[in-house]
Formats: sequence, C-alpha cells, structure tokens
Amino acid sequence: MAAPTVKLNSGYEIPIIGLGTWQSKPDEVIAAVEYALKEGGYRHIDCAWNYGNEKEVGEGIRRSGVPRSEIFVTSKIWASKLHDVEAALDESLANLGLDYLDLYLVHWPIHLNPNGNHPIFPTLPNGERDVVRDWPLRETWKQMEAMVKKGKVRSIGVSNFSERVLEQDILPYAEIVPAVDQCELHLYNPQHKLVAYLKSKGIVPQAYSPLGSSNSPLLKDETAAAIAADRGLQVSDVLLGYLVAKEIVTLPKSVNPARIKANLEGALAAAKKLTPEDIEKLDGVAASGKQLRLIQPPWGVDLGFENWPVKYATPQ
Ligand code: NDP
Repeated sequence: MAAPTVKLNSGYEIPIIGLGTWQSKPDEVIAAVEYALKEGGYRHIDCAWNYGNEKEVGEGIRRSGVPRSEIFVTSKIWASKLHDVEAALDESLANLGLDYLDLYLVHWPIHLNPNGNHPIFPTLPNGERDVVRDWPLRETWKQMEAMVKKGKVRSIGVSNFSERVLEQDILPYAEIVPAVDQCELHLYNPQHKLVAYLKSKGIVPQAYSPLGSSNSPLLKDETAAAIAADRGLQVSDVLLGYLVAKEIVTLPKSVNPARIKANLEGALAAAKKLTPEDIEKLDGVAASGKQLRLIQPPWGVDLGFENWPVKYATPQ
C-alpha cells in the first residue's frame, strides 16, 4: 500500500507518511530503510546529518533496489553549519551517496558556534548553548535558495521554526517560501495555531515524534484508546491517522519490521475511519490538561521565543 502524496509549494509531491530515522542505530537503520522501501510501502525517508546515520540510510536505500526517482529523501543542515550551506549539503549528499535531495531543512532556528567547545552541541562555560546571536537566518536561507538553483535540492524548508521566526527572519526576505516546517506535532502537542498559520502561508506542516517518541505516554492515552477500540484500530494507528487526516505529513520512526509496516497501513486506515467527532475529541485532548512537549529544547513555537536562551546542562 503506497501513501498518498501532498503537493508542496515547489510543485513536487511528498508522500504523507515518511520513515523517521532519529535514534535508529547505524547497524539497525540499513535494514529498516531497506525493509520500509521494499516491503513496507514507504517512499519517503526522513534523516538528518546530526542523527549520525546518513551513510547507513543511503546504504538501505541502495539495497532496497527501489529507483531513486521513486523515493523522497529529506535531510537537515545542522545548527553549527548554517554559515556554509553548500559544504554541509555536499557532506550529506556524499554520506547518502545521492546527487540530489528531495528536501533539505534548516534543522534548528539558531546558529550554534561552529568553532565552539563541541562540534554538535557547543556550550558556554555557564552551561548555556553557544549561540551565534547576531547570525541572520536570512543569510542561511539565501544559501539554501542557491542550492535549489544549482539543482542539488528540489525543495527547501525549515524545522522547529515558530510563526514569529518565519515572519521576522525568513518570509520578508525569501525568494522561495519554505515548502515545509517540521515540528513536534502529536496528540499532546498539536500546536493548532501554528498548523493553521503554516497552512495559510502554503507551508506544509510535518509532524515529528508523532507517536510520542521513546517511552511514549501517548500510547496509553485514554481518549485515543477508546477511539481505537471503537474503530477496531491500534492506539498507534489513531495517533498517526489523526495527523494524516489533518493533512500533516507524518514521520513515524521504527526499526522493527512489523511496526514499520503496521504504522503506514494503520495510519492510512485510521485516517479513513476516524470520524469528524473523533478528530474533534482528539483535538481537545492536549487542552484538557495533557499538553506536553517531549523533545528539548522546547522550541518557542507556542511558548514564545522570549524563553530563549534556555540553560541546558545536558545536550539533547
Ligand atoms: P516517534 O514518535 O516516531 O516514536 C518512535 C518510538 O516509538 C520508537 O521508540 C519506536 O521503537 C516506537 N514505535 C514505533 N512504532 C511503534 C508502534 N506501532 N507501537 C509502539 N511503539 C512504536 O518518535 P521520533 O522522536 O523518532 O520522531 C519521528 C521522526 O521525526 C524521527 O525519527 C526523525 O526522523 C524526526 N524528528 C525530527 C526532529 C527535528 O528536530 N526535526 C526531532 C525529532 C524527530 P522501535 O523503533 O523499536 O519500533
């Protein structure tokens, strides 16, 4: 079963379900990607330089035997590389063994010090992130646009960008409007306002951690469980189908073949079976006292960027 696609503002089509690869160990992700493409019905893989497994994702793509032209591959430029997009992109392309990406995202809306005390998560002596505070994001975006013109990427987008950052730092300067904004979107963090804003601008919302990431509390949610029982679905199907029904591109991660297949099939089945009343109930779950962010830092999407900088002792 293939996932339907959503049209991006670049004119390209993105499959509404993609395989996530964060925290997929290099020795597991080759088989996971190969299985997803060959047996699981997936045609969309979401990866990032910072996940440290791009080489293995590329190997899984090759082993699948599925033609490159049929696969939608996303990667992301890491925050310490925002000053030189082409060098970062070339590294990701070499890791993946590809000559173009379907989608390249700015992973975080901040520039971390490329000459800091750590190549990925540099910190200041006081424990705060070592952020290049005067870096204009529009400069990175200009370089992203140049990569489209060079044919190294088909579409470009952002991740973890709030309405405020898009309004202030990107849209006034953009020749190419971001195709997507990939954010933490799920039952307990639905960000209704952000999703409506993105749609109003023609930017496709993408849901990361749609199942609630590792050790997910969402899989035990009572409302989702009751709806799953009523509709003959698994709770995971309801969590994913809820997003798909709202035309949010959804990125479940798994390295388990049975779950990889079940997630795609279950999400598509649930998106069809969930009634408008089910969706309304699910829409209200977070506001009923369950609002929860699972991924750190809690990007200022709903919280307001005034909460930045936040002190993190432990890199996330
Ligand atoms: P998910 O919400 O996809 O949950 C993944 C976890 O759920 C894993 O532990 C997985 O274990 C388990 N799981 C998968 N399927 C099932 C199932 N059917 N039933 C029960 N458990 C299941 O979390 P992620 O945080 O990984 O988010 C998805 C993807 O989004 C990432 O992999 C990444 O590609 C992207 N992402 C992007 C971010 C960004 O900043 N742009 C941040 C975070 C994620 P197992 O593998 O053993 O099945």
